[in-house]
Parts: sequence; C-alpha cells; structure tokens
Amino acid sequence: EMKGDKDSTGSFTSTKSSPSDPDAFLSQVRDRTQARLYDAVSFLPGVDAEPDLSYLVRTVRAILATNDEIWERCKGKRCHHGSPDVSLVDLKRGLCFRRISYTKIVAMSRSTPSGWPSSSVTQLHFETAAERSVESFGFPDGLPSQLSSIIVPRMNPDGIFTDYTHFLESTLLLHKDILIPFLACLKEHLEIQQVYLGKINRWLMEPEECAAFIEENFGKKIDIPEELMCDSSCKERHKDDAICANCKRPHGEHRPDSPYSSAGRHICPGWGSNQRGLFPLSFGKPVLLKSCDTPGEHRDTFDIGKESERERLRRFLAFIFYTTSEC
Ligand SMILES: [Zn+2]
Ligand SMILES: [Zn+2]
Ligand SMILES: [Zn+2]
Ligand SMILES: [Zn+2]
Repeated sequence: EMKGDKDSTGSFTSTKSSPSDPDAFLSQVRDRTQARLYDAVSFLPGVDAEPDLSYLVRTVRAILATNDEIWERCKGKRCHHGSPDVSLVDLKRGLCFRRISYTKIVAMSRSTPSGWPSSSVTQLHFETAAERSVESFGFPDGLPSQLSSIIVPRMNPDGIFTDYTHFLESTLLLHKDILIPFLACLKEHLEIQQVYLGKINRWLMEPEECAAFIEENFGKKIDIPEELMCDSSCKERHKDDAICANCKRPHGEHRPDSPYSSAGRHICPGWGSNQRGLFPLSFGKPVLLKSCDTPGEHRDTFDIGKESERERLRRFLAFIFYTTSEC
C-alpha cells in the first residue's frame, strides 16, 4: 500500500513538480522511491553486483526463519513488569532477560582442626553457587523508515517485533524495480536484528557452557534450576518489595513466621491466613566441587562465563594437581 502522506523530507509526494502525464508521473514516483531505497543499502547500484530477486527472497526467508527460531528459544526467559526480579528502570531501558547460572567458582583455603591442639590442616575448597541475574539488552531496531513509509508494518501480538511474515508477503506485491532494493534493505535490517537476538541467545546459553565446564574440570554434574526460591522457612530477610510466588503480594505485607522471632516473614497476608509465602533468592546454597589438602593460602574467584577466566582456572587446577598428591 502506498503511503500518500508527506514524509519527513517532504520529497515523496510533492505535487507541485508532478508531471501531468500519467506515465511520466508513475516513473517519477518509482525513480524517487528507488533512489531512496538504494541510499539505504550498503551496496552501490551499478558498481557492486546487485543481488537478484530469487537470491533476495531466499535469503530474507532464511534469516527470518533463523531469527524466529532464536526468539522462540529466548522469549520464555524474558522478564515482564511485575516479575519479582526486574525493576521498572531496567524494563524502560530495553528487553530484560533472566537466567540462573553457576558462573563463579571460588577457590578458598579453609583451616580444619586436626585433633591436636593448635595444629590444623589447610584444605583448599572449590565452591560454586547458583546465581540469579537479569540483563537488559536495549530494544531491537525498528524497521528503517525507507521501508515503513512504503509498506506500513503490522506488529506481532507481543508488541516487540514486526510481523515480518506478513510484511514480506506485502512486499512481494511491489513493482520489481522497487522490490530489489526494498528486499536488499530488509535483508540488512534483519541481519542487524540477528546480531541483537544472537547477543541475548549467547547470554542465555552461558549457564549451559558453565555447567559443561564444571563437569569437564571437576567431574560434577550440575543441574541448572528453573527457579531459585526460598523454602518458605528460611531465615533470610527478603527485600520488602520482593513478590511472593504464592499470593503475589510484596514481602513487606507478610507476617512473621513466629510471634517470638522477627527472623523470617513468610505468612501470606489475609485474615487468619496460614499460607506460606515463597520468595525469589539471588543465590542458591554453595556447592562444594572439590577439596584437597593443599598447603598455603589461596583465595580467588573465577568468572567462568569468560573464556580467559576458564583458562586461568584450568592453569590453576593444573598447578594444584602438580603440587598436591591428595586431590
Ligand atoms: Zn510485560
Ligand atoms: Zn567450603
Ligand atoms: Zn524465605
Ligand atoms: Zn505470600
């Protein structure tokens, strides 16, 4: 559908210079539109090899399929307003995603009494703990105005992405002279979108990479929990605005577990209620991965989400194995 409105540059439908001859008018509109589209693509028409129509249709559909697949994988981990672990500020900055991961390994020396007075054995502990994190990825780029001024996009029901399948179908009705640069421009936009989605996907895949690293280097299988929740009898003082998974009311409205102690507040609000509240935790309980009798004092943290840190930990483990027989 052609947009009859004047666009921001005012050049699209300036009736003053329109020729009265219909054929001349038609080709003038097409030439202008074509020029604007070629302005928006990275190749130079007449200089670079121009992509042909079937190549463009095939490529655009392939990128669309991949982008859909990535989004399907990621969207379940998206935080919405009302999620207990995301602030309104984060949500205004972009799409936010949540993950639970074992991304940090702490190596720490612990002294254990050996039975003899004043003597102790130093043990080196390698520990990790599940950690909840939320990351904001900014918003995806909208369609370039060169495209949306020619075909008005429809949004998907999620309100985030354009309904590209519908958009592509409408696009195919354009005159071929317009269609080639139009699809070239759409292709470049979708490639940018793939980079955006890829960033989210990589961040969400990191927990699995970390678990694989742990299994490989410590021989321990790590299950990544779907959620990190307190057991509704914990002694942790949750944040007052933490939302209860049971009654959806904030922690601050919950009553103390016992009238004699103020340690935990897990009784859901409501007259005579004995429902127990469940609140999200930022960290799970520490998991001991390995301990060995190692003389000397060590204290180090390894962020195994990064390859450089994984390499540093591999070297450290090799050093410990080399200097310690009991490990
Ligand atoms: Zn929402
Ligand atoms: Zn320990
Ligand atoms: Zn609790
Ligand atoms: Zn509750």
